[in-house]
Amino acid sequence: MIIIYETQLLFEAQWVQNELTAAGMKVHISGEFLGGAVGDLPPTDAMIKVWLYEEQHEQRARQIIEKLEASRKTAGPDKPCLQCGELLSPHFERCWQCDTWRTDI
Ligand SMILES: [Zn+2]
Repeated sequence: MIIIYETQLLFEAQWVQNELTAAGMKVHISGEFLGGAVGDLPPTDAMIKVWLYEEQHEQRARQIIEKLEASRKTAGPDKPCLQCGELLSPHFERCWQCDTWRTDI
């Protein structure tokens, strides 16, 4: 098992997890409960990690993550969720806060 992605934002970790799972890979997120304790921990321990179980998929997983990051950079401005007002990046089809599907994109 290897760490394929690290972030301080849970939704980013979940986003990577969703994409890799959809591509048929087995992944696991760790550190998602550390959010409230960031000040007590060294920065590297505060990161949320996405683990890839099968190392033979590493190259494909990294390509998928690269594409995700590229698509985020070229996406438009963030927009609030129509349901709860949470600010969402344009590439999200669903609000990570209230799970509402977006109709404005
Ligand atoms: Zn919402």
